[in-house]
Amino acid sequence: MLELRRVNAGYGNIQVLHQIDLIINSGEIITLIGANGAGKSTTLMAISGIVPVRSGKILFEGEPVHKLSPDKLVAMGICQVPEGRHIFPQLTVQENLDMGSFLRTDREGIKEDLDYVFSLFPILAERRNQDGGTLSGGEQQMLAMSRALMARPKLLLLDEPSMGLAPLMIKQIFEIVKKINKDHNTTIFLVEQNANQALHIADRGYVIENGKITISDSAENLLQNQDIQKAYLGI
Ligand code: ATP
Repeated sequence: MLELRRVNAGYGNIQVLHQIDLIINSGEIITLIGANGAGKSTTLMAISGIVPVRSGKILFEGEPVHKLSPDKLVAMGICQVPEGRHIFPQLTVQENLDMGSFLRTDREGIKEDLDYVFSLFPILAERRNQDGGTLSGGEQQMLAMSRALMARPKLLLLDEPSMGLAPLMIKQIFEIVKKINKDHNTTIFLVEQNANQALHIADRGYVIENGKITISDSAENLLQNQDIQKAYLGI
């Protein structure tokens, strides 16, 4: 579904990503793990068109997409849930969700997807007329994920969905990520500091160090890998 070929990207004079090669197949959950500042968010933002690709290629369903704008990429089915949620605090829950379906015109489909996100997160249905900014951190994460789902993505990019959440909420968010993947065969690219939980729901994983992919393997093998255990799993 998505392929990065020798992607280089960065900010101003700083090159952050070096020759990134990465493949995501349709229906997979892929996780990208790495230390603070390794380049995880930059990788996601290069895919979603926010950080420009300086050289290399990104192919989505076989088409080159690395020169397209973020709104075009959303229309093609690539949606990112950014780190720190970035919901609209002064808009209600319902209005935040409407922003997610902004580019769509299929009323029936939008209604179906609204019912779906309310079934995933019933608390959002209860709070639909409440301002987004008044929700708890966990509820805001639910809203940010739901807003992305309202665009009916083929590929969902999740940047640190567990950040700053209580353990019980983290567990619930990871279960829902798995469910979203199963229910609609939504392909998921998950960036996480919480490598242990991420690898438990992922099919495969990549490790990024200083902007370079150093390891790529099945999630099962990564969980058993002693270097990974020491560096990222606290074992
Ligand atoms: P974290 O888990 O801490 O979010 P990360 O792996 O997602 O880390 P990135 O956010 O991709 O890392 O950052 C990679 C590097 O790029 C870091 O050195 C960071 O300081 C730098 N960087 C990130 N955003 C910018 C920016 N807007 N301008 C300049 N440098 C940036």
